[in-house]
Amino acid sequence: MSIRTCVGCGQRASREQLFRLVLAETGRLVVDYQTSLHGRGAWLHPDPSCLRGMVKSPGRLNRTLRADGPIDTGTLQLEEVETGPRPRKSGLEADGHPMSTQR
Ligand SMILES: [Zn+2]
Repeated sequence: MSIRTCVGCGQRASREQLFRLVLAETGRLVVDYQTSLHGRGAWLHPDPSCLRGMVKSPGRLNRTLRADGPIDTGTLQLEEVETGPRPRKSGLEADGHPMSTQR
């Protein structure tokens, strides 16, 4: 099992419970639903309080992403966080990735 650390609350969780954020070249933080984007990623719970925690302590995010400059988290929508990590319908495995855990 892959364990990741949430950049919002600092707690560790399996990657199935988190979603991935990637720093785009433009300096913006984007949600990587398919966990397939290139670049450094950070992991966050699908929880608005974790998103707020991340925005409030950008130092942790900068360290995680090894970013020098400020990270634009303003484009990250709370709705994206609340809808959860994988907007993938069950049974749909377009990329051939088996859904390993079903909880
Ligand atoms: Zn968290």
